Amino acid sequence: MQETTAIGLNFIGGEWKASSGGKIYEVRNPADQRSVVGIYQSSDELDTMAAIEAAKKAFKMWASTPAPKRAEIVFEAWSILKKRAEEFSLAITTEEGKPLPDARGEVKRSLNVLEFIAGEGRRLGGDVIPSELPKTLIYTYKRPLGVVAVITPWNFPLSIPVWKIAPALVSGNTVVFKPASCTPGVAIKICKLFEEAGLPPGVLNMVTGPGGSVGRALVESADVKGVSFTGSTETGRWIYENSSKGMKKVQCEMGGKNAVVIADDADLDLAVEGVVQGAFGSSGQRCTATSRVVVDRAVKGEFLERLLDRTEKLKVGPGTEPGVDVGPLSSVNQMEKVLWYISDAISEGAKLLTGGKRVTDKGLEHGLYVEPTVFDEVSPNMRIAREEIFGPVLSVLSGEGIEELIGISNDSDYGLSGSIYTRNIEKAMRYIDQAEAGMLHVNCPTLGGEAQAPFGGIKGSGIGQREQGRKAVEFFTEEVVVYIDYTGSKRDAKFI
Ligand code: NDP
Repeated sequence: MQETTAIGLNFIGGEWKASSGGKIYEVRNPADQRSVVGIYQSSDELDTMAAIEAAKKAFKMWASTPAPKRAEIVFEAWSILKKRAEEFSLAITTEEGKPLPDARGEVKRSLNVLEFIAGEGRRLGGDVIPSELPKTLIYTYKRPLGVVAVITPWNFPLSIPVWKIAPALVSGNTVVFKPASCTPGVAIKICKLFEEAGLPPGVLNMVTGPGGSVGRALVESADVKGVSFTGSTETGRWIYENSSKGMKKVQCEMGGKNAVVIADDADLDLAVEGVVQGAFGSSGQRCTATSRVVVDRAVKGEFLERLLDRTEKLKVGPGTEPGVDVGPLSSVNQMEKVLWYISDAISEGAKLLTGGKRVTDKGLEHGLYVEPTVFDEVSPNMRIAREEIFGPVLSVLSGEGIEELIGISNDSDYGLSGSIYTRNIEKAMRYIDQAEAGMLHVNCPTLGGEAQAPFGGIKGSGIGQREQGRKAVEFFTEEVVVYIDYTGSKRDAKFI
């Protein structure tokens, strides 16, 4: 296996190739914009077509490889990643910016996914169904879709691609992977991981470059039979509409505006810890980040006092520095967007309690840092209460009584995750019954999920089959039903 070259290449048909158009672009370290992390291919439609062609060519061979054998390669990838966990963690921090402990968490999540999904290779069976006719066997089996596109965002550059690619491969599909333009370095490492694990040429292909050319070409290609996308709701909507025109199977995991409800009987220390972790961990750049708090007025004063005290103690700095809580934002665009939302919130009348500025202290002035920011007196119709900011900005809304709090938290176009802090089982159960989100938490942050459980949202946050857990292979397979008549004689078709 070749080591990473100075210029990152595309991975097509088992070969590392430059884009045919010859265009390249650079990625800079979010913690220090003077440092170039890598130079990559700015590919186009022709490169994408070549990757689709390679995936098409490899499909028959891979689909006919027994599922447990396919899974062995995924398990081997798990074993290699486990040995190289620290190297991958550092690559994530350098390219995406999150603090090293968060990056280690992402590697751990990816290991869990690989381990769990590899096991699915031995469980990829169907059902035997009783027939109403004599000597008739009915059974189902799972068949791969063909060439599938995996289109991913930058905020979890390892785990999101892994939780799509691994089930796609175990199910017998071949893949064209289009990573986010901000994080091609980690994407290259993923391809090398599978290459080293023994994946045959053409089964996994990767093309770096703009969503508008590479991503679009994948969605519009008649040879791509499924699209698994994670990213913004805006892009997801376009992908959903355009994939459906080509009758492709599609799953879109998209943005969030996740709320924590704090009831009047909540353990406030626990609630503050959960909110701080959810809102400012990974600089708020998680789809499951806490973006809104809906607190009962009866405890609002006390909650805010403790929240501000805790928030102002957070350490902002480079993700590689020990003890840092909040790293940089991932790109200049991302930082400018967050600062714009902050100034918009002020002009809409929200009350800035802490933060609100770019951090330019000595040593941090070349990075993309924004202070952990809290707004109070946010009303449900303000832009910061409705739109995904994807940064370290928390909006505090308030109400009275559990019904009103749940109503405010549901007043959103999004529905990814949500959480309630209460000591009262009746309030917790009412929340679980009524909260409009795909993933609900009680007395813990809005964040995360486990590899063996389904992951995904409702409303503007998700559409299509859920990811992860045992459901993951369902998206990447079609279920075929087989009827075998072994009577040896003609029978009347009395049913349809
Ligand atoms: P984007 O929607 O901007 O991009 C996601 C991916 O889509 C990138 O690879 C991008 O390429 C590509 N893309 C852009 N335009 C097109 C197009 N027309 N056709 C096909 N592909 C395209 O999202 P971000 O990368 O900014 O990621 C942040 C978003 O991801 C947030 O909204 C966040 O909530 C969401 N997210 C959701 C999760 C969930 O599970 N629900 C989990 C994690 C993140 P390029 O980078 O080149 O623009």
